[in-house]
Amino acid sequence: MSVTPLTPKPEVLSAFEAAKGFMPADEGLALYEAATRAARLGLPLLEVGTYCGRSTILLADAARAAGVTAVTVDHHRGSEEQQPGWEYHDPAVVDAELGLMDTLPSFRRTLHRAGLEDHVLALVGRSPQAAKLWGAPLGLVFVDGGHTDEHATADYEGWAPHLAVDGLLAIHDVFPDPADGGQAPYRVYVRALESGEYDEVSVTRSLRVLRRRNPAAV
Ligand code: SAH
Ligand code: MG
Repeated sequence: MSVTPLTPKPEVLSAFEAAKGFMPADEGLALYEAATRAARLGLPLLEVGTYCGRSTILLADAARAAGVTAVTVDHHRGSEEQQPGWEYHDPAVVDAELGLMDTLPSFRRTLHRAGLEDHVLALVGRSPQAAKLWGAPLGLVFVDGGHTDEHATADYEGWAPHLAVDGLLAIHDVFPDPADGGQAPYRVYVRALESGEYDEVSVTRSLRVLRRRNPAAV
């Protein structure tokens, strides 16, 4: 068994570090490792919550290496906490004509600069609507979209059923202590563990990675 750590090439790492977004470096490396392992299943990698493409770069590079596609879903209008007047608002990602958030242009620049456009399929719209139409097995589901219970639950219920056996479910912003952040992703994580359908693979601060069990194995 190889013990070589799976880390992105320097040019991918610097594109990731230069991108706008909410994925810290250490959690990003853990996500990259999960994506690389999951991509070896030969199935697409799915992300909910593109924002400006920071984490997408990591999935895209893992997808490129394995010859699969990274799919990323976002309506690009921002989550509740990213709206004007809220803690995570960035006025640089507002469409001046509409006065609404639009992270799609920034996402496209990020991906182009990283040289990864050919490995990503971007779905622009609401995650539950996309999940409803989705029909292919997935190697990775990365949940990093809306942080309300409504959104986090819909992302889990919509996408996790498409995970193949041995596929990885990664959840970001899991905070067991309410003092550290909102609880919706944590509740989804607990629910996934309690379902008995997953084994925990890794914990890197707020990033949790679970592996889908083979239901036939005892
Ligand atoms: N993964 C990103 C951060 C994502 S932020 C990074 O690494 O930086 C969360 C994103 O989820 C926002 O861009 C927001 O627009 C999107 N989002 C929230 N609820 C959504 C929903 N129901 N459907 C699609 N996208 C949603
Ligand atoms: Mg996040």
